[in-house]
Amino acid sequence: MLDLLLPQRCLACGRTGAQVCAACLRALPRLEPPFCERCGAPTAWPVRRCSECSGRRLAFESARAAVAYDERVRAIVAGWKEHGLRRLASLAADEVTRQSTRPEVDVLVFVPPDRDRLLERGHHPAERLARALGERWQLPVADSLRRTGAAPRQRGLDVASRRRNVRGAFAASSDVPGRICLVDDVYTSGATASAAASALRAAGAGKVEVVTFARALRLR
Ligand SMILES: [Zn+2]
Ligand SMILES: [Zn+2]
Repeated sequence: MLDLLLPQRCLACGRTGAQVCAACLRALPRLEPPFCERCGAPTAWPVRRCSECSGRRLAFESARAAVAYDERVRAIVAGWKEHGLRRLASLAADEVTRQSTRPEVDVLVFVPPDRDRLLERGHHPAERLARALGERWQLPVADSLRRTGAAPRQRGLDVASRRRNVRGAFAASSDVPGRICLVDDVYTSGATASAAASALRAAGAGKVEVVTFARALRLR
């Protein structure tokens, strides 16, 4: 609540003014093709698999993100998560729709929060982003996934540990449609997206595409 009494500052550069100032908005590290067809990593030329995803079993068909998860974007996402800044969902949705065409899917499904973190924040960026994208793409949003337990935090773990950590972390309701676009705020190793997609496919989804606002690059 104290936030309301302080002059608002840009989350990325600290300048007084908008939540994300015009200069920082212009300078967002937008990802441009070519991408790895599968995991969405920027590549030198179009490839079906890249060094980041080859040999990995990924339950989703493709993943795309709008911006690189660099220091400034990290600060923006942290502000979004911690302070529930509503306008950021709209900013993130604008960036996603600028970069990705409307997916050929039946429904958008967001990655659910872990219960503790939802209580602590009182809102959930992935759901906000899914709802903002649903308006722009004229697609319904379904709350089809739940966490099966207290998912341990992924921060600071390597890729193999992240995968072990989230395997079986999600369950999907039994009535999921055939084609789904899974929405999350950040794609880090792809382990969370793959575990969530795996649960959706086990519940009957034929195809799962992933879109996120930001994506970590070159994580090994
Ligand atoms: Zn700024
Ligand atoms: Zn790849």
